[in-house]
Amino acid sequence: MNINLNIADDWELGRTLERPIIISGPCSAETEEQVMKTCTQLANYTNVSVLRAGIWKPRTRPNSFEGIGSPALKWIKKAGVATGLPVTVEVANVKHVYEALRMGIDILWIGARTTVNPFAVQEIADALRGVDIPVLVKNPINPDLKLWIGALERLNQAGISKLGAIHRGFSTYNDKKYRNTPRWEIPIELMRLVKGMPFICDPSHICGRRDTLQEVSQKALDLNFDGLMIESHITPHKALSDAKQQVTPKRCGELLDSLVLRKTTTTDSDPVFLHSLAGLREVINELDHKLIDMLAERMKVAQRIGEVKRENNITILQAARWAEIIKSRMAYGNAQNLTDDFVANVYHEIHKESIRHQTKVMNNAVSTTKQA
Ligand code: PEP
Ligand code: MN
Repeated sequence: MNINLNIADDWELGRTLERPIIISGPCSAETEEQVMKTCTQLANYTNVSVLRAGIWKPRTRPNSFEGIGSPALKWIKKAGVATGLPVTVEVANVKHVYEALRMGIDILWIGARTTVNPFAVQEIADALRGVDIPVLVKNPINPDLKLWIGALERLNQAGISKLGAIHRGFSTYNDKKYRNTPRWEIPIELMRLVKGMPFICDPSHICGRRDTLQEVSQKALDLNFDGLMIESHITPHKALSDAKQQVTPKRCGELLDSLVLRKTTTTDSDPVFLHSLAGLREVINELDHKLIDMLAERMKVAQRIGEVKRENNITILQAARWAEIIKSRMAYGNAQNLTDDFVANVYHEIHKESIRHQTKVMNNAVSTTKQA
C-alpha cells in the first residue's frame, strides 16, 4: 500500500514533547466544577501534556447522557488557561468544528464512530480547510486499516499536516477481557507506513475497566507508542459516561508512575527504527499465533480424515496423495520465494504429526472394539 502523508515538522506533539505524551481528562465534561477540579488535579498529580474532555458524546444507545454540548467548551478552555495546557475535544460534524474553533480549542480529535464514515470525515476535513489545527484520528470501530488511513488522507489533503493516530481498540463480540480488543499489528503497520506521526494509545476505551489500564498502557509503551490518552474523573463511579473505566487524577498519577520506560536497544534519536523494530516483532508474534492456529486446525481435519479412513477400512498412508502434496506445495512455495528444501522439511514434519493424529484415531477404534 502506498500512502503519502505530509506531516508537519513543527508539530510539537509529533516532535518536541517529551515521551510519553499524556492526554487526560474526563470522558465527558459534566459540570464546570468537575472539569476544573479534574484538570487542575491532573496538572498536580501527573505530567499531563494535553487536557481532554468530551463535549458531544457519541453514545451507542439513545437516552444516555449525550454530553453538555457547546456550553461545556468554555469549561475545558478555562481549565487549559488555568493550567497552561493545550486542550482537545472530539468533533464529529461541521457544527462541532466551528464551535471548537471559535472557542480556541487547541487540538481536535475524531472519534472511532466518525472515522468509519468517509462522508463525515470529508465534511470535517472540508470545514478545516485553511486552518492549521492539529487533529488526532482514532482508529475506526472495525479493524480496517484502510479506513483509518483514508481519514488521515482526507484531512491531510485538506491541508491538515499536524496529524496523529490513536489506537483505542476494535469492537468485537464476546471479548470478555477488553471492551474494545487491541489489534496492535494494525497501528504497527500504520507506523511502518507513516513516519513522523505521533501514535497514542487509549487504554481507557480498550479496557473499559480500571484494573487492566496499567498492563495495556505498559504494552503500548513497550511497543513504542508516543503517548497515552487516559480518562480521568474526580469521582469516577459517579461519572455520567464510562464510569467503569475512569480513574481519579491521583490514581492516574500512580498508574503513570508505575509504568516502566524501557531502555531501548538504540539511541532515542532514532524513533523510526524503534517503531519499526517493535512493530515488526509484534507482527511476527501475530503471524506465529496464526501459524499455530492453522496447524492445529489442519490436524483436526487430518483426524477427521482418519475417522473416514477407519470407517472405510483403508490404510492411513496413501502414497500417491502424499507425493502429490509434496510436489504441489513445493511449487506453491517456490512461487512465494521459499526453497524446495524448506517446504519439503516443513511438510515432512506436518505429515509425521498428521499420521500420529490419524494413528491415534485408528488405535482408539481398536481399543474400543477390544473393550466391546
Ligand atoms: C472518547 O474518547 O470519549 C470516545 C468517545 O472515544 P471513542 O471514539 O474511542 O469511542
Ligand atoms: Mn469515554
